[in-house]
Amino acid sequence: MMKTVIVGGGMVGMTLAHLLRRRGFEPTVLERAPAGHYIPRGYMLGFQGYEPLEEVGVYDEVKAAGRPIAPRPDQPPVAVAVRFGALIEALQRDLPITNEHTVTELVRAGADGRVVGVIADGPDGPTEFEADLVIACDGMRSPTRSMAGLEAEFDALPEAELAFMSPIPAETSFAMAYQSDGGHIGMLSWFEGSAGWRSSERVGREAAVDEPGVEAIKEMWSRMLPAAATAIAGVTSTDQIRYSEPELLRCPQWWTPGVVIIGDAAHFFGPETGISSGIGLGDAHALAQAMLMNPDDPDAACRSYEVWRAPAVRPYEANDPGRQRILVAGQVSARPEEAWPPAKV
Ligand SMILES: Cc1cc2nc3c(=O)[nH]c(=O)nc-3n(C[C@H](O)[C@H](O)[C@H](O)COP(=O)(O)OP(=O)(O)OC[C@H]3O[C@@H](n4cnc5c(N)ncnc54)[C@H](O)[C@@H]3O)c2cc1C
Repeated sequence: MMKTVIVGGGMVGMTLAHLLRRRGFEPTVLERAPAGHYIPRGYMLGFQGYEPLEEVGVYDEVKAAGRPIAPRPDQPPVAVAVRFGALIEALQRDLPITNEHTVTELVRAGADGRVVGVIADGPDGPTEFEADLVIACDGMRSPTRSMAGLEAEFDALPEAELAFMSPIPAETSFAMAYQSDGGHIGMLSWFEGSAGWRSSERVGREAAVDEPGVEAIKEMWSRMLPAAATAIAGVTSTDQIRYSEPELLRCPQWWTPGVVIIGDAAHFFGPETGISSGIGLGDAHALAQAMLMNPDDPDAACRSYEVWRAPAVRPYEANDPGRQRILVAGQVSARPEEAWPPAKV
């Protein structure tokens, strides 16, 4: 069976490792962060991620730890708003991970320069890990993708994003509204807290957060999305507000001999879609199955993976609402009461 190295022990890398182990592979997972580390965030697990997590055996636990979004009788909910750590901790359980190892180089061999392993810097210095297939699950800025020479197309959204995290849950698990200029505002709440986001002009953190201040941000959120009023009440400092300038990512090719990219390393969707992780978990499922069917032929596995997965992923990339806004940017402006930051008086 082919030898595999998974670069990145985030949600997608860990899910893939579980799925491969269930199929008889023994992947090495290299993760630069210390054991147990993750960055909490507002998180909803989309339905696209249910099947892989069911196979891993953590879906019921994660679903029970979260609040359903758009529950339907006798069917699973469209998504689950859940404490991010509930999913990450469940995936970390019983999974061997080589932590504090940062992949810094790809090892190549032969006239064609095929990738045959990686070098990772760890507490004992650089170590080589041989691999018939290196699987990059190392996130949107994927160093492995760059080292492999796989092209990445980043598209900046025309708007920025303002987001909050609050320790107070809201009364509903989810609320969202579009604005007159195509911008959006939303909120999601798990049992232990809540988070919200909205589009803003790309004016920098000072103008979008510090100058209006926390009270103006709270007033705006409660007014524009009343379902978020309880949640935003738990915001008491601008430290709980994040300003970012999101980018979309698509990669024309997902593999090159010896390296395949999945999850955020291969694609990233707009902030209001809430699908990035579910699609990444689906990638892991499809790749594990492609490898099972081609256990000694990494190129055939990658080829099968791409053929299966493109029809599932490419339409999401093409139809991302953020991409539609890129097309019409500058043609309409927000109503004054919707605009952020507010006009100075
Ligand atoms: C604020 C925020 C909110 C989000 N909300 C949602 C949501 O509601 N729903 C949703 O579906 N998605 C959401 N996402 C996206 C979701 O979190 C990601 O899609 C998901 O975590 C992707 O997992 P991944 O494993 O592909 O990448 P990552 O989680 O980025 O993991 C990559 C891992 O690789 C490691 N790594 C990187 N470089 C190296 C290296 N050189 N060597 C070794 N290890 C390395 C990193 O330390 C990290 O652990 C959100 C993202 C953010 C930032």
